[in-house]
Amino acid sequence: MKTKKKPKYSLGSCVSFMVKTAWNREKRVLWVCMALIGLQLSQSLVQLYVTPMVLRRVENHAPLGELLLTIGGFSLLLFVLTALNTYIEKRAIYGRVSVRSSLVNAVNVKSCTTAYPNTRDAQALKLQQAAMNACGSNSEPAEHIWMTLMGLVTNLVGFVIYLVLLSALPPLLIGVVVLTSAIGFLVSKRINQWEYRHKDQRDQYLEEMLYIQRKSRSIELAKDIRIFGLKPWLTAVYDSSSRLYEAFITKRERIYIWTNVVDVVLSLARNGIAYVYLILMTLENGLPASEFLLYFTALSGFTAWVTGILTEFSTLYQEGLGISQVREYLDLPEPFQFEGGKPIPQSGSYTLSLDGVSFKYPGSEQYVVRDLYLTIHPGENLAVVGLNGAGKTTLVRLLCGFYDPDEGRVLLNGQDIREFNRREYYKLFSAVFQEYSLLDVSMEENVAQSVTEIDRGRVEQCLEQAGLRELVYSLPQGTKTHVGREVYLDGVLLSGGETQRLMLARALYKDGGILILDEPTAALDPIAENDIYLKYNEMTAGKTSVFISHRLASTRFCDRIIFLENGSIIEEGTHEELMKLGGAYAKLFAVQARYYQEGGETHGEEN
Ligand code: ADP
Repeated sequence: MKTKKKPKYSLGSCVSFMVKTAWNREKRVLWVCMALIGLQLSQSLVQLYVTPMVLRRVENHAPLGELLLTIGGFSLLLFVLTALNTYIEKRAIYGRVSVRSSLVNAVNVKSCTTAYPNTRDAQALKLQQAAMNACGSNSEPAEHIWMTLMGLVTNLVGFVIYLVLLSALPPLLIGVVVLTSAIGFLVSKRINQWEYRHKDQRDQYLEEMLYIQRKSRSIELAKDIRIFGLKPWLTAVYDSSSRLYEAFITKRERIYIWTNVVDVVLSLARNGIAYVYLILMTLENGLPASEFLLYFTALSGFTAWVTGILTEFSTLYQEGLGISQVREYLDLPEPFQFEGGKPIPQSGSYTLSLDGVSFKYPGSEQYVVRDLYLTIHPGENLAVVGLNGAGKTTLVRLLCGFYDPDEGRVLLNGQDIREFNRREYYKLFSAVFQEYSLLDVSMEENVAQSVTEIDRGRVEQCLEQAGLRELVYSLPQGTKTHVGREVYLDGVLLSGGETQRLMLARALYKDGGILILDEPTAALDPIAENDIYLKYNEMTAGKTSVFISHRLASTRFCDRIIFLENGSIIEEGTHEELMKLGGAYAKLFAVQARYYQEGGETHGEEN
């Protein structure tokens, strides 16, 4: 579907943005553009004049020496201009890449630091993708725009120079050349837009093919592909998309033939008229052959300038859209306070409260947390339990400040967290979230989250607390062993449980005042899980902690348990109190206890 959304920034503003970026980052990009424009114009002027000048000397019976000097002079000039052009062009690429890299970097920084809701918002993600595409490679707007700008200026200046050169010819002839060139351009553009108009269709086929290619290679699917014998099915899906894509390309080529037909017809008409006029001039006014040649070459060249101006301008317009998207993404409004804000209390003793909090996810009508009041006292170990979908993870997201509530407030030591700098607020937390989030770097880097500042003693201590001591010692390179095989072939593949432990070690290393553990033992076997519980008090000493689990037995060691249902606290107390109450918690506990005794649940996943 074609969307005609007006870009936020005009073409002029985008060009000036790029010029400013280049000025701040790599001034030579601008000098090089000017030099190349001058060189290209000089080259085409020399090419225009070389033959007529030689011919004129032949007509005038010039001595051989002068003739040879003219040919030699022009050839040398052309050689020097071409060599200079190639040399500067080759060197210019680094400057242009550097300017583009600065934009790639800015987009990456924005992606890493933008408010969490933006990382889930479909519009923001679309804009992010468009921004990445616009600076994704040498041929994308953030780099190619320099070529387009050079092309446009060269063509414009060339057009004016030729106009002056051809001023002796009747304006009607010039008009015919301009008109046929413009018609040719517009017709070709309209025809060539067929692919753009059907872009979604093409992208769909390509995406289907790429998807199957990716999945065929994926480590996650490797077992299922073999056990379920998925290969023939995957091949059939791939072939079907591939056939559709081929049909698409064939149709496109059939349509594109018409651009050639139009081009040939218009060229014939244009050249025919020019020939007729120049032959008449030769016959009636005795126009010398050298001038005939000069005018005819200039008229053909004139077409190239006109088409060049239109083509480059249309490309520039498209590239302006890309640059605008980069800027729109960089300007994406941030719902949280990331600059300034009140300083975070440095007491080291933190009370977190939810004060009448209600929350629904952006774009959803349904409240996931309803009118919740909760205070987590300094040093308290709070467990949050409930069935799947009760709102436990959402509660944690609100406490951590990933989302702001729709109603009510989240308070830190009695102050609304919206008043603090959100990035400073995040520094208070150490967390193990459900999603696996390790990088393919060494174990110690994963734990310390740094390349240079690694306190190895503490890394080992945290690995031990998280129960990874034996594993690490069994590895040939110990804590320097790489994790995963996406980047390093010698990396170790960790099981789900081991990954979770490594994430726990990372959380312990960060040593934030508030520890959040969202199902941190879900992938551990019961013995490993018990081992973590035994160490829980040691791990949370002096910290406020929130421990989420759907396994009730695992929360007994916490100071207080809240039982969530449909985003509300329905029961609250210690394990004993809740068991005595005989309510939802006690019932679920009994069900789970029976289930575990019967050995119904298994854990641990190996890749
Ligand atoms: P729990 O952690 O207790 O399993 P969650 O907090 O993950 O529950 O989810 C509570 C409800 O919110 C569920 O109905 C879930 O479908 C919904 N939900 C969770 N994340 C999102 C999201 N990003 N967007 C919309 N709805 C969500």
